[in-house]
Amino acid sequence: VPVIGVLALQGDVREHVAALAAAGADARPVRRPAELDAVDGLVVPGGESTTISKLTDIFEMREPIDKRIVDGMPVYGSCAGMIMLATEVLDGRPDQRGFSGIDMTVRRNAFGRQVDSFEAPVDITGVPGEPFHAVFIRAPWVERVGAGVEVIGSVTGGPAADRIVAVRQGNLLATSFHPELTGDLRVHAYFVDLVRSVS
Ligand code: GLN
Repeated sequence: VPVIGVLALQGDVREHVAALAAAGADARPVRRPAELDAVDGLVVPGGESTTISKLTDIFEMREPIDKRIVDGMPVYGSCAGMIMLATEVLDGRPDQRGFSGIDMTVRRNAFGRQVDSFEAPVDITGVPGEPFHAVFIRAPWVERVGAGVEVIGSVTGGPAADRIVAVRQGNLLATSFHPELTGDLRVHAYFVDLVRSVS
């Protein structure tokens, strides 16, 4: 059984731990370097990316997480977690910093100029079945991806149609939305499979 940590500095940690456990992982909160050493994969939850960035430094987790990413540890970032995995952030705070993550540009609170929170169907490459019912809460979208980044999900209709909301680069996965809130375990199962395949 793959051991998967949820970065537990701020955000909806419990919901991700529950979803990962239901998807077959040994899931646990992680906030110390020694706890990080014990996991095969990591989830960076939704919350507030500026706060997560700040607490990452206070808890001295930045270097250990970057090191594990370079070593190939799978990481899944949801919403604020997606922002923490982006190499470039628009509309961010000048002092917020992400991990050595996905070669992409995300815009913070991107949908928020029209509407704060909304739900929309998203087709995700590699996730079989019906389109995913995605919940967006002050979510980012992806405005640029580098050559090594695969776009695996976009909004299918409505005012935000075609916006990129799910990407993968190697063992790094990110979604703008919150699958941990819907009871649909397919994204977490996809990540658990990814962790299983490399550990
Ligand atoms: N707007 C938040 C941020 O910038 C993300 C919101 C969320 O994670 N639901 O970090």
